[in-house]
Amino acid sequence: MIDSDSIKVQTFVSTNSEKVPNYERAAKYWSKIPATVDGMLVGFGFVSDVDIKGSDKFLKSLFQMQFPPGKERALDCGAGIGRISKNLLTKHFNIVDLVEQNRTFIEEAKSYIGQNERIGNFYNIGLQNFKPSVQYDVIWSQWVLGHLRDEDLIEFLIKCRDHLMPGGVIVVKENLTSSDSIEMDEEDSSVTRPYSLMQKLFTAAGLTCICETKQKNFPKFLYRVDMFALRPTKLLQNEATSQ
Ligand code: SAH
Repeated sequence: MIDSDSIKVQTFVSTNSEKVPNYERAAKYWSKIPATVDGMLVGFGFVSDVDIKGSDKFLKSLFQMQFPPGKERALDCGAGIGRISKNLLTKHFNIVDLVEQNRTFIEEAKSYIGQNERIGNFYNIGLQNFKPSVQYDVIWSQWVLGHLRDEDLIEFLIKCRDHLMPGGVIVVKENLTSSDSIEMDEEDSSVTRPYSLMQKLFTAAGLTCICETKQKNFPKFLYRVDMFALRPTKLLQNEATSQ
């Protein structure tokens, strides 16, 4: 299902045609990567603590909003071995589900996270084929959306948007290019998008960014990393007219 908002952006989707992620190639790449924190962060495992601290601060700022998200259920998208579920999401939410395309990472997640009654379901499927079956307070996607083609990313965001609890938010934490162009990584077959394209994709999925911040204290040679909190545009419009 692509709604009318998305149709407006079909033109820019098609112009990105040379730099398109390939799902089979990505799966093959990840199948050779060790199921460790360093593997998840492609050799930059040392940024994990700083990353989690930045995410924790951002999440806490969302809980301080006038209409904050609940703390019942979160979804970790492209969860890998569960680094974010273990160190961030289970600290804040009663139930955390994980979705991840690589079966080995899911198996490793069970021992990496350890016994934790807050862990809910594991879904072994690509985000391009995933359909949430329950509603979430927070849907967290980090360092995975570059693996989705633009049109699948819009569809995925729409499905997430339609499975948010009242007050729920989608959090996107991704690398961004500093130029205004898309950069393709031929090795893992992912793209890094510029800020402007991310915003267009959010709009196309009927989402509005209500809060955003840049990750601080990462090494200078890494891509810029931004966190975005997204809510359904229609809900925000209804709130505005009913006030
Ligand atoms: N978000 C985790 C893992 C990042 S590594 C973290 O920050 O620690 C990227 C992860 O995305 C890998 O586990 C990889 O298998 C997964 N991935 C790649 N393409 C995917 C897709 N299409 N759907 C779901 N997961 C995908």
